[in-house]
Amino acid sequence: MSYPRLHIDLDRIEHNARTISRLLAAHDIQVAGVTKCVCGHPAVARAMLRGGVSAIADSRLQNLLRMRDAGVQSSFMLLRLPPLSALGQVVELATVSLNSELQVLSGLSQAAHSQDRLHDVIIMVELGDLREGVPAESLLATVRAALQLPAIRLRGLGANLACFAGVVPTVDSMNRLVELAEEVEGSFGIELDTLSAINSSGLTMIEAGTMPARINHARIGEAILLGRETVARRPWPGTHQDAFRLEAEVVELYDKPSAPTDRRSQNAFGDRPEFEDRGVIPHALLSLGRQDVHVPGLVPLDSRLRILGACSGYTALDLAAAADEYRVGDTISFTPDYAALLSAMSSQYVEKRPLQRRSL
Ligand SMILES: *Cc1c(COP(=O)(O)O)cnc(C)c1O
Repeated sequence: MSYPRLHIDLDRIEHNARTISRLLAAHDIQVAGVTKCVCGHPAVARAMLRGGVSAIADSRLQNLLRMRDAGVQSSFMLLRLPPLSALGQVVELATVSLNSELQVLSGLSQAAHSQDRLHDVIIMVELGDLREGVPAESLLATVRAALQLPAIRLRGLGANLACFAGVVPTVDSMNRLVELAEEVEGSFGIELDTLSAINSSGLTMIEAGTMPARINHARIGEAILLGRETVARRPWPGTHQDAFRLEAEVVELYDKPSAPTDRRSQNAFGDRPEFEDRGVIPHALLSLGRQDVHVPGLVPLDSRLRILGACSGYTALDLAAAADEYRVGDTISFTPDYAALLSAMSSQYVEKRPLQRRSL
């Protein structure tokens, strides 16, 4: 295969995982490394485990299966709420799942029972991001019923913020989770061993020393893969932001006007892109397009280059600031953001090239 290629630097991912795991360990917080953005790529999961994450978490059963089949030695957490239609697979592939619906918990118990297993669950609580989670007022009733289920083990409570609505974790929301946990413990005379409260958006609070002590589990994807916390997308100290590099090939290079002059309607995607008229420019086409990657999430490594736009199969670049330096057949590299990484990993047209320099 040729281009586009996604280069994956496993040593950098391992290093990032080590930095984050050590930081959180110093706060008595265990880290599950989240692999959904890389479609459960086994080499990436192994790099995270070498870096010290205590488990692997993914939102998709196919990804857990992929890692298990590749022999990745880890316990697996299922992040996305289990669908009623696949509870047997959930129990088979995941040692622990995140849950919010009683009907599902009950089905999980039956599925676990029929496979002669116990299945661990974390009950998610809605803390304001309006994605998954039991509303606080329904929590006690849900826990009461869950505790009756014979093949389910309640490991603790969880929450997810900053993913859907972009709601930022705060001391208040984290304390809210701790209070709810204490209410559950008091009501049923049990101890919850896990409060899984944060993802990469929680690192700022950890750094500031404001995370309540009872929060003891984190599910971390972006900070390990791309070296950023996710509230301000600030590069995280001591991590690499360039573990991934997308490389694409120049297939046409001519001087062309920077803006079209003829009458325009919508493009192939129903958009009406704007063009800045900068006269005639060296205009490159790459064999890289929207079917490969979320192009707006790419930043050229050569900062003189500008992305003009993209359709399904092409991305157009303005090479004016690097005029005579590129030829047809050359390649151009980009750093992907989270959306671009997710799309490139998910595209069957992008060749993935994991690289491990350090020998084991
Ligand atoms: C995706 C996901 C995460 C990881 O989030 P990052 O911002 O990549 O760290 C954590 N928890 C859940 C439930 C998720 O779906």
